Amino acid sequence: MAEATARDWHARAAALAIDGRAFIDGQRVASLGGASFDKFSPIDGRLMAAVARCEAGDVDAAVRSARAAFDSARWAGMPPAARKKLLLRFAEKILAAREELALLETLDMGKPIRDALSVDVPSAARCIAWYAEAVDKVYDEIAPTGRNALALITREPVGVVAAIVPWNYPMIMAAWKLGPALAAGNSVVLKPSEKSPFTALRLAELAVDAGIPPGVFNVVPGYGHEAGEALALHMDVDAIGFTGSTRIGRRMLEYAGRSNLKRVFNELGGKSAFIVMDDVGSLERAAATVAGSLFFNQGESCNAPSRVLVHEGLADEFVAMVSAQAPKHAPGDPLDETTVMGALVDFTQLRTVLGYIEAGQAEGARCVAGGRQVRAETGGFYVEPTVFDGVTNTMKIAAEEIFGPVLSVLRFRDEAEAIAIANASQYGLQASVWTENLSRAHRMARALRAGTVHVNQYDEDDITVPFGGFKQSGNGRDKSLHAFDKYSELKTTWLRIDPA
Ligand code: NAD
Repeated sequence: MAEATARDWHARAAALAIDGRAFIDGQRVASLGGASFDKFSPIDGRLMAAVARCEAGDVDAAVRSARAAFDSARWAGMPPAARKKLLLRFAEKILAAREELALLETLDMGKPIRDALSVDVPSAARCIAWYAEAVDKVYDEIAPTGRNALALITREPVGVVAAIVPWNYPMIMAAWKLGPALAAGNSVVLKPSEKSPFTALRLAELAVDAGIPPGVFNVVPGYGHEAGEALALHMDVDAIGFTGSTRIGRRMLEYAGRSNLKRVFNELGGKSAFIVMDDVGSLERAAATVAGSLFFNQGESCNAPSRVLVHEGLADEFVAMVSAQAPKHAPGDPLDETTVMGALVDFTQLRTVLGYIEAGQAEGARCVAGGRQVRAETGGFYVEPTVFDGVTNTMKIAAEEIFGPVLSVLRFRDEAEAIAIANASQYGLQASVWTENLSRAHRMARALRAGTVHVNQYDEDDITVPFGGFKQSGNGRDKSLHAFDKYSELKTTWLRIDPA
């Protein structure tokens, strides 16, 4: 649909028939007890559908189906080239369903339809296709041992993978788990967030349409403390790929300890530092970049550069520039293709974000742009792009992840202080350094304790590079060939070679 108007999208949204049932063993099923919960859209409070409220019994059925599919070898035992073909077909089906998936994503979690169309759907498809392409290009190893033996180092799928994902990029986060886990030959049980279950369920249908055998990919929607906990504690799940908060990531490790020591790979929160040095090339570009990156997705990004550290000599000018950027990201109707910022995911998130804005003011930071709820008359949850100046690193708004469109500006005197402030965080997901000095760029990139460091940019991202954090931002790495490590076991096979 070219150039659809907001009216077109609203009409399509009104006509959508959404199926909220679980997807187990290749088919849609109601929860065993028949329980469901109502899912409302954050854009205007409309009721989208009733969603299956899966609990331990449903999770057990999904894990049994995944295990049976794995043991049958109908996926894991398939020649790599055949698995690749089906995964590529799955990626094509995602692209073919682009508008439907984008609409579901926008209605479900509030992001602008233009981002769902141009970022979320194509990125999810590219991720699946990229791992599909890798399947028949990754070789195993032969160890450099002596002549009287041969040692093979081979990769095997771990078995049944639980993928537990958040609501901020529902499709992309699911794809980051599904791509490498399925390509490696595992079966997957996906638990989407209760705040955004619909695209995950459609993805499972598309996978089966593409020819991926039933049972290989199951989806159990439900609450974290019910479906999520049952899945993470299940004795027949071999690994958890978790993306979510640091608080729940901690629980994942406990669940593994209390059950079968399943492998846990956590991708958690962040409070990424964006450092503007006094030898920055273009202050204007730095201000536009930080605003674009922080306000994207309503600020609900794990890697949002929410702590902006600016050299004291440039700080006033920078604050003026970034404040001037803020209104350009003002929230609008997410179903209007010109809107750049949508709705926060729900009322709880709205309250959290407004609570942080109040805390910033109470602790003495100056709110220089935004700071208010808007569009309340729509029934949705919108907050203005907000900028705080005069923030110190121990204030709540600098220490904690807000997950909303709130940017904090902190000042520093020199490079050593910038590094010290940036690293004084429980998190270590990403960082950015803006300088024209090449040695300084390298020196600072090395000193920053973060999984990704950007120099003079923040926007580059690609499936080819690992994504994950240091410290309490987690231990796993999504994306790139390194993600295969999470979903495969290494096996050593020794063969004795007798002398002639
Ligand atoms: P969350 O931790 O509340 O929930 C994540 C998932 O865990 C959801 O599916 C939820 O239902 C489930 N869950 C909740 N409680 C559970 C429990 N007791 N047992 C088992 N499962 C449970 O996180 P969220 O609010 O959905 O997502 C936001 C968080 O995700 C932020 O902290 C953000 O930084 C993080 N995140 C990290 C990355 C990354 O790659 N590092 C990417 C996106 C989001």
